Amino acid sequence: MIVVMKHEATQEQVDSVVERIVQMGCQPHTSLGEERSVIGIIGDVRKINREQIEMMDGVEHTLLVSKPFKLASREFHPDDTRVVVNDVTIGNQRVVVMAGPCAVESREQLMETAAAVKDAGAHILRGGAFKPRTSPYGFQGLGEEGLRLLAEAREMTGLPVVTEVMDPQMVPLVAAYADILQVGARNMQNFALLHLLGEMGRPVLLKRGLMSTIEELLMAAEYILSHGNAQVILCERGIRTFETYTRNTLDISAVPLLKQLTHLPVIVDPSHGTGKWELVEPLSRAAVAAGADGLIIEVHPHPEQALSDGAQSLKPAKFSTLINSVRSVAAAVGREL
Ligand code: PEP
Ligand code: MN
Repeated sequence: MIVVMKHEATQEQVDSVVERIVQMGCQPHTSLGEERSVIGIIGDVRKINREQIEMMDGVEHTLLVSKPFKLASREFHPDDTRVVVNDVTIGNQRVVVMAGPCAVESREQLMETAAAVKDAGAHILRGGAFKPRTSPYGFQGLGEEGLRLLAEAREMTGLPVVTEVMDPQMVPLVAAYADILQVGARNMQNFALLHLLGEMGRPVLLKRGLMSTIEELLMAAEYILSHGNAQVILCERGIRTFETYTRNTLDISAVPLLKQLTHLPVIVDPSHGTGKWELVEPLSRAAVAAGADGLIIEVHPHPEQALSDGAQSLKPAKFSTLINSVRSVAAAVGREL
């Protein structure tokens, strides 16, 4: 259930409603919008006496949110959420580009890539230090050494860093280095991890699971939101279908759908979404045309030598071309890059 406050409602009136919801045995989540405040009620809403709430001063009306995700829904939060990371805002007019290697492999590889993506116009540096590999014999990442190198690359370029955390136990370590904590597709429903990230209050990049529906993605986001963290960025990264020419099928329709259903920013990963470097630029253009708030793209100076995901990684020069090509699409749909 949500309580929509009147435009002119005072902070005191909002506080009284919040207090009353707690007395009735539920948890209130207040969202201070530009137009009006909205209070989301989480818990067993059968305990809420709706009539009593509606009679309180400052209350415009209450409504039941029919969808299973509440705090993530547009009804609860009509304005777009903006996730701010240092001087980068994700979810406003500017399309944000995150780029870097799939995995941090060495200082030389990371610094070269970081400098190149920064030069080309990327806003955030990506790079995995802990890699969720299908095979236990595959390169698992440099671990903490990789995190240290990412922090060094941030120093050098000024770009904030996004990197994956796979396990609740590793959250404090990864959070000590990263600006955005990435939940990988394979961990989208690691509820212990989502719960903890909800309590961390650090921006989270939540990737759609390999076989997950849009509703399951939003329910995963709801875990983070309901534990107190509103800074969630959703990422469409392709889903499994019967198609074999691509690694995954990038679900472009997820972008406008998510923008309708939720206030959270939505970015697209055309690298994992296709598995083929040749498809990364056209799908980046499609993503931005469909309304994506950003892109996350794998770049490697020598893709043929990459320890993971070389086939979908762009060389720096190709990445630079991509940025220019996406910029014109952004302009065509009234955005900037
Ligand atoms: C990654 O970003 O390198 C990654 C492993 O992505 P995903 O979790 O989407 O497969
Ligand atoms: Mn990868």
